[in-house]
Amino acid sequence: MVQIHNLGFPRIGKQRELKFELERFWSAQSSAEQLTLQAQQLAVQNWRYQSACDWLPVGDFSLYDHVLDMSFLLGHLPKRVAKAPGSLLDKYFRLARGRSANDSHCQCVNAAEMTKWFDTNYHYIVPEIDNDTVFELNPTQLLSQIAQAKQHHANIKPVIIGPVTYLWLSKSKGKCSRLDYLAPLLDVYKQLLSVLEREQVQWLQIDEPILVTELDSDWQQALSTAYQALSSSQVKLLLTTYFGRLQDNLPLACQLPVDGLHLDAVSAENEVAEVISALPKHKVLSLGVVNGRNIWKSDLSQLLNWLEPIAEQLGDKLWLAPSCSLLHVPVDVSSEQHMDPQIQQWLAFAVQKLDELQVLKKALNHGRAAVKQELENNAKAVDSRRCSKRVHSSEVKQAVAAITTEMAKRQSPYALRAKCQRETLKLPLYPTTTIGSFPQTGQIRKTRLQFKKGELDQQAYVQQMRSQIQHCVREQEALGLDVLVHGEAERNDMVEYFGEQLEGYVISQHGWVQSYGSRCVKPPILFGDISRPAPMTVDWIQYAQSLTDKPVKGMLTGPVTILNWSFVRDDQPRRATCYQLALAIRDEVLALEEAGVHIIQIDEAALREGLPLRRNEWADYLDWAVEAFRISANGVQDQTQIHTHMCYSEFNDIIKAIANMDADVITIETSRSDMELLDVFEQFSYPNEIGPGVYDIHSPNIPDTEQIIALIKRAQKRIDPEKLWINPDCGLKTRQWQEVIPALRNMIKAAAVLRAEQPTVA
Ligand code: GLN
Ligand code: ZN
Repeated sequence: MVQIHNLGFPRIGKQRELKFELERFWSAQSSAEQLTLQAQQLAVQNWRYQSACDWLPVGDFSLYDHVLDMSFLLGHLPKRVAKAPGSLLDKYFRLARGRSANDSHCQCVNAAEMTKWFDTNYHYIVPEIDNDTVFELNPTQLLSQIAQAKQHHANIKPVIIGPVTYLWLSKSKGKCSRLDYLAPLLDVYKQLLSVLEREQVQWLQIDEPILVTELDSDWQQALSTAYQALSSSQVKLLLTTYFGRLQDNLPLACQLPVDGLHLDAVSAENEVAEVISALPKHKVLSLGVVNGRNIWKSDLSQLLNWLEPIAEQLGDKLWLAPSCSLLHVPVDVSSEQHMDPQIQQWLAFAVQKLDELQVLKKALNHGRAAVKQELENNAKAVDSRRCSKRVHSSEVKQAVAAITTEMAKRQSPYALRAKCQRETLKLPLYPTTTIGSFPQTGQIRKTRLQFKKGELDQQAYVQQMRSQIQHCVREQEALGLDVLVHGEAERNDMVEYFGEQLEGYVISQHGWVQSYGSRCVKPPILFGDISRPAPMTVDWIQYAQSLTDKPVKGMLTGPVTILNWSFVRDDQPRRATCYQLALAIRDEVLALEEAGVHIIQIDEAALREGLPLRRNEWADYLDWAVEAFRISANGVQDQTQIHTHMCYSEFNDIIKAIANMDADVITIETSRSDMELLDVFEQFSYPNEIGPGVYDIHSPNIPDTEQIIALIKRAQKRIDPEKLWINPDCGLKTRQWQEVIPALRNMIKAAAVLRAEQPTVA
């Protein structure tokens, strides 16, 4: 008999209950007891959703982050948190976010670093390893979850991160290397297994997703050492991999002394046959056949065609599961009250994905006739999506087929363009600008909400937004910025805003996915060929430009970022979708130019995020991603200045690709690292203009003029002053006006001081 299980369930809650509960606790509106109680209720609710699983995951629920939970389970806390007084919960939030509820100033500590979980948009808290590192098992939390789960299900399966992946996710701050800590770490894992053995745990899901990345021989050896050390336990280990193919790690993954292996059979479909033949016969093979990274219904009949012979061959050694934890999808599509019903029937969120597994299980164990109705309904939905005219537009396909290499090229090389642009724009040396958004005040949010609810008509809405734009332009003029923006008051989100206006998109109401802690994102759903029925930003920018003689930048989100922050189609390659988006943005760029906008910024905040996990696949991704950006940007005349913005700082390894985008100006994040990030420019001469951020907008602190001058002087060592722009690190939407005004004033003063020092060049 085939069994089914789940690797992890979204913990944020159907209505983001956990988010609101956390925020109440942090702002001292509720107690630790209340938070714990609410969290327990959510965990119980999650188990109910998963009750049809043969094995119920336990320990995947987390108040903030599962990697942070792991650090607590392993008693692995940095000294600054461990030795401070307070409850474990206080320490937990201090490490996660610098402070707990009711913390006085002196109790705050530096929060741990946060970084992206593999190639997802989820961020985990990076474990810190230094010379003081010790591990000490602290299973209380996990044991209490196990005890509770046992009340809900006969078969529970705790979920933990494996020792080698845990070390790989850590950052070493001392001289030691991460693998130096393998031996003491394994001691704690062994103790944990003994504890679980006493709890009569039969199966433990032990995640080692690093098996889908490139591993050198030291890390491969570490995996062998680790699982050898853990192999004597009675607890059966399900070695779990996801997010990719095993490739050269396949023999290792199959041979490690464990009792089962989970493979992401969505991204590693073509490895399944090889794994089956390499895997020792006594082991369980768990196939992740339902995609845990997207929101589409699976084609169940097609899956059954593939799985029936496998089930025949493996019998009860076959388990089925989602490809990865369902953390990366929203909870329940049936919560959607206002979605187009045709499109809604194509979708499966976490709850629906578990239903699919149940159908597959019944069909494999009792024959397809046992789930005839379910299979018919599924086939109907899948067919309707496959053939829908709303998905396929021959016009869009033709437009993509007609893309030429010329379209990705500017008319002239940068040097010539720069000359034209100088003549048209007449900007001073060290031009000052911002990244686009200005504070999103309560009033702005209220206006947008009222409009959305229909409490405000179009005309009243436009009027109110225009008055926000006017305010923003006036403030910028008063400050004396050289290139202005309209402030983005009308945008709830830099991707959803475009998703709402493009054909081929649907926006969910409750499709929230955890990004980190209480922060959630609601990726718009890209279901069909993309086109742009009407201009999306032109009116706003034109209005802003009508208020001032200074140039106003048109503000767009680039195709790669729109792609990477949406749920996208699984019926065509990502690059094909990206090219469609590129054409839509290109139309908008040209419309802005036509409307007299001389500077257009195309944000590519998420370009780096799309990098594949394996380096040998980077070049291909960067090729099409850069090409898509160029298609969107490069239809303009020489005198139109294209800007792009990227809010990450680690660009050293992709600097050539970034230069290849050929934007006239790029603005990037640098201020937090004291411009160290610009070191790359010592080896690589960036050909165009660049604005290294000089004001860290993530902090409420106001940088003073001296600080900013010092930063710019550092930048000048590597970048020709004529190519330098002066701007903040990122958009200002999360800041308040009273912070923004003095900070920008100091920034502009810094530019003036520097200009005065070099009067000849202006
Ligand atoms: N233009 C956007 C803003 O200013 C850019 C945001 C981003 O890079 N994340 O908000
Ligand atoms: Zn940014």
